[in-house]
Amino acid sequence: MCGIVGYIGKRNSLPILVDGLKRLEYRGYDSAGVAVINSATEVKLFKKAGKVKEIETQIPVNEFEGNVGIGHTRWATHGEPNDNNAHPHTCMNEKFYLVHNGIIENYKTIKKKLASEGYVFHTDTDTEILVNLIAFNYKKHKNNFEVAVRLSLCEVDGTYGIACLCIEDPGKIIVARKGSPLMFGVGQDEIIVSSDASAIIAHTKNVIYLEDGEYAVLRRNGIKLKTIDDEDIHREVQEIEYDLDMIEKSGYDHFMLKEICEQPDIVQNTYRGRIKFETGEVKLGGLTNIKEKILNAKRFIITACGTAWHAGLVGEYMLEQYCRIPTEVEYASEFRYRNPIIRQDDVVILVSQSGETADTLAAMREAKKHGATTLGLVNVVGSTIAREVDAGTYIHAGPEIGVASTKAFTCQLMSLILLTMMIAKEKGTIDDEELKKIGAEIELLPYKMKQLIDKKDYFKYIAEEFKDAKNFLYLGRGLNFPVALEGALKLKEISYIHAEGYPAAEMKHGPIALIDENMPVVFIATKDGTYDKVISNIEEVRARKGKIITIATEDDDNIADYSDYVLRVPKTHEILQPIVNSIPLQFLSYYIATARGCNVDQPRNLAKSVTVE
Ligand code: GLU
Repeated sequence: MCGIVGYIGKRNSLPILVDGLKRLEYRGYDSAGVAVINSATEVKLFKKAGKVKEIETQIPVNEFEGNVGIGHTRWATHGEPNDNNAHPHTCMNEKFYLVHNGIIENYKTIKKKLASEGYVFHTDTDTEILVNLIAFNYKKHKNNFEVAVRLSLCEVDGTYGIACLCIEDPGKIIVARKGSPLMFGVGQDEIIVSSDASAIIAHTKNVIYLEDGEYAVLRRNGIKLKTIDDEDIHREVQEIEYDLDMIEKSGYDHFMLKEICEQPDIVQNTYRGRIKFETGEVKLGGLTNIKEKILNAKRFIITACGTAWHAGLVGEYMLEQYCRIPTEVEYASEFRYRNPIIRQDDVVILVSQSGETADTLAAMREAKKHGATTLGLVNVVGSTIAREVDAGTYIHAGPEIGVASTKAFTCQLMSLILLTMMIAKEKGTIDDEELKKIGAEIELLPYKMKQLIDKKDYFKYIAEEFKDAKNFLYLGRGLNFPVALEGALKLKEISYIHAEGYPAAEMKHGPIALIDENMPVVFIATKDGTYDKVISNIEEVRARKGKIITIATEDDDNIADYSDYVLRVPKTHEILQPIVNSIPLQFLSYYIATARGCNVDQPRNLAKSVTVE
């Protein structure tokens, strides 16, 4: 949610800022801007509603030559996404320039105070208040840039990742974070600031992550790191663990398509070195220090948002069925607002791709406050949730750039399966034969997933038949109910077609009223214990002339009689079937959206890594 970049060094900063913004654009893309201190020590500002590409083509490049600059790609929280509200923001006397990710919650109080001192404002953003507060404190504290920023941050409530320039102190960028991610790459005589590693990796692999409540004063060849309470910090440089090609499209039309297609390889990263296929025994090294707590847990609470919440719902079925531990799944955004009952013998599982999801982070802190054990299932290494949980296991999906999550979802499912297998074995709630079967099927899983990737042209053909649909229903039962929810969410997110997921049997308690000959209904009807019941539900829709698309197993000879279209998937162990079943649904939404001309990597109003509440 919003991308920040900064550069200070010997090179011309503008191309580095623009390239960084393009890589961060998946985090927000309603407007973008840069501020550069040029060779005449003037600050040049260019900002616009729209995509980074527009900045790149319209900016008067010559005027922006200089070695220090900051940039931003926005996902608006306060104020319309127009030119005026785009970042960087400046203060009344134009001495400071600021880019900000997050929300200044007490901006109204600060605005009042500054207004009474004669400050006037020109935008609708909370960020403009912060940059003016810095200007106010600068004047009050003997024109000291660092003190001004630090004391201003002490006054604000809310969240921020910021990068700030001062025209009277042009050899510095000051950066800070609280609740929004920020890091910087340390190169040879240069520093590159970014919200995540993707804008840094082309220049250096050496990075320093800022933590909450910290700021850094960055010079071309010097770094000072402190807390906003004015304490010194020493932080080791860390190495980014992925390469540039992992964040490029590699010939695919969209990141989303690339990420769907790479799942057979990527899912192996989730279980590699963690499972013995012959026995199904699982070892999750990251959980060793809380293993006893997990095994003695009276209850699991899985909390997450969006797609990760759907993965959590699948997790609930698996943990209850195989481990016999009561499990609840909570929207992280609701969890802490209803005074939840959390006990010390609960294990709270946080699922988040970015590890920065503001609501999930807040839920984690709430759980910790009540003394529960926290367990993170996170993708981004070193992210806040990953650092703050008691223990965790990375899902190892690699960088996910497509805003609509695909590979992170299947890797979250795989992580939950491994967790289930480990607990069930230790508690003796699964017999060895069953465990062995799952182990053997996991070994085959990448081949089965690959078969589906190879059928993408067929999925495209079906998708195009439905590109003009106005509504869609997705129905499934048991483990496949959350898969239906996820299928519907994917379609909504990128094609803007209204879609709902429902437990198949619940349909007759309401949604059946929507069914007529114009309503496509996707049934997840792979063979499992609920298969016959799902067939009855299909009959109910057929009787009302709905268009039936089924996800069915290859050996199902009867399903074609009930369906207008069948999307065949390989059969696997029921615990793995949701992973397999998700792939045709991902393709369906991808190809429907592209047939409608939608920008699937940057769907309207959405952004990845939701760092605001
Ligand atoms: N609250 C700021 C705004 O609306 C920053 C939003 C963001 O994180 O992009 O401009």
